[in-house]
Amino acid sequence: MGKVEPAKTKTYPTRFFAWPVKGEIDLTGNFGEIRTNHFHSGLDIRTNRGQVGVPVYASGEGYITRINVSTTGYGKAVYICHPNGYTTVYGHLMLFAGEIQAYTLQQHYAQKRAQFELYPDTNLLKVKRGDLIAYSGNTGGSAGPHLHFEIRDTKTSDALNPLLFGLKLKDYAKPFIKEITLFGLDASNRILTGTYRQSHFLRKGKNISKHNLVVSPGNYAFGADWADYLHEGGFRMGIPYAELWVNNQKIFTQKIERLAFNDWRMVNCHLDYPMQEIKNKRIIKLFRDDGNTLDFYPETINKGKLRIEAGKTYQVKLRIKDFAEHQDSIEFAVLGKIGNSPDDPKEAVLSMQTENGVHNKFYPNKNNEIELKGELEGLKVIIPKGVLYDTIHFYMAKSKQTQNEKTIWEVMNSSIPVHDSLTLIYTPKQAINIPHHYVMVRLSSSGAKKPEPGKWNGESYIAKAKMLGQFYIDVDMEAPIMTNFSGKGVKFQAMVSDNLSGLKEIRVFLDDQWILTEYDPKTNIMSGLIPDVYLKEDNTIRIILTDNCGNSSVFNQTIQR
Ligand SMILES: [Zn+2]
Repeated sequence: MGKVEPAKTKTYPTRFFAWPVKGEIDLTGNFGEIRTNHFHSGLDIRTNRGQVGVPVYASGEGYITRINVSTTGYGKAVYICHPNGYTTVYGHLMLFAGEIQAYTLQQHYAQKRAQFELYPDTNLLKVKRGDLIAYSGNTGGSAGPHLHFEIRDTKTSDALNPLLFGLKLKDYAKPFIKEITLFGLDASNRILTGTYRQSHFLRKGKNISKHNLVVSPGNYAFGADWADYLHEGGFRMGIPYAELWVNNQKIFTQKIERLAFNDWRMVNCHLDYPMQEIKNKRIIKLFRDDGNTLDFYPETINKGKLRIEAGKTYQVKLRIKDFAEHQDSIEFAVLGKIGNSPDDPKEAVLSMQTENGVHNKFYPNKNNEIELKGELEGLKVIIPKGVLYDTIHFYMAKSKQTQNEKTIWEVMNSSIPVHDSLTLIYTPKQAINIPHHYVMVRLSSSGAKKPEPGKWNGESYIAKAKMLGQFYIDVDMEAPIMTNFSGKGVKFQAMVSDNLSGLKEIRVFLDDQWILTEYDPKTNIMSGLIPDVYLKEDNTIRIILTDNCGNSSVFNQTIQR
């Protein structure tokens, strides 16, 4: 059995960057770990046991190349471009510091915009290593206070594991293989249902619960569930390195050190997506789907898939390794049953129409279209080239269930991942007078309503979605609401929300003067600070809330002195 390959094949500057926060470093997330719909592209640094407001320092000298303020994604974020070809990113910040904060505030008022991306001139905001740049927070799509820290290749925007740059991190714990999955690669099964046949074997000591697996001859592949921690009671980390050996031959390698900008979402075919969507269980595939173009698999034979012949034995070994070189491994044998004929792929059913639905074979490398016509309304779905990860037997049908007496369409099902948006085109047969109040709604597997706002083009309503599943058309006539307003001195705060299509815009004015507000969709809290220069005797602010269907509400509120 060979030794695990050395992890670092390229050299990176190991003395240039420093940790962006002071004190001992603990992580709540690491590079390349699996998140919902993306690979994690940096390190999540724990801030003062989960508090906001921890000072954040420039990791190296350079200049501020970009400032983001958003209610989603990285929230408030700073990008520093360094002379050595790398860019550092600091995300989910509460507040910028010093000149960066002054410049951003001035731009908010100059542009009268609460959310934007700024690209300051290279000479404007220079920093030295260790300069205070911001305070940590929980803004944007963050699930708890921490600092998201990233190192990118400036030219390509590829994210790199920051630990490749010599940042020291204490790691006391070994990774651990918990479970092995055997996937039966029977193509007809997969294409018809979108799910591979699979069996799960729990770990038992150095082996798995069944030492020898006896299977019908055919095509198979492996998957695994594993875990790693930095220390006892710490957060779960992803594992960058794995190797799968069969009969002393390495057939699959996973090596996650660099993440291309367009590949983040491809996590959905790196893991067994249906298992995650249906059972909330994460199994990493030790093989590669046809539409998987990630470059995480440097040494792979037959995409990691294995042909098992009758009467033959296959010695399988899986070895995993964390960044601190701690390892774990597991060994077992797979036997091909004698006397069984191979369990081989069958060709899927071709396109057909049934009473309620249509079926068609869809391909990852083609533009695919499917249409369901009806007496009152029709729905057409377009899935462009590059959106599917594998060949799928696709179907679309009218559900027997309805939502508020409206038709629900089953567009395949939510256990099939998509890499990018699909287009849904809804065409009613009769003229309607409120088309701009339409909203396409996706029903999640838990029954939650997710608006997928679209546009009316004169005869059809066109929406985009990044998931398959159940959809229906609803009408949003209700304006957003505001509750719990409070205002004193220069501060004001309120709860704001919308019933269906979602808040699109919050605008606040004092007389005719635009006032900067912050809004956090996680808590529905809107807040702001009135600049001293605008304060008068009577400070009544006007708050205008608009949803994605254009419904607006206006509130006048007095701020106490
Ligand atoms: Zn993060």
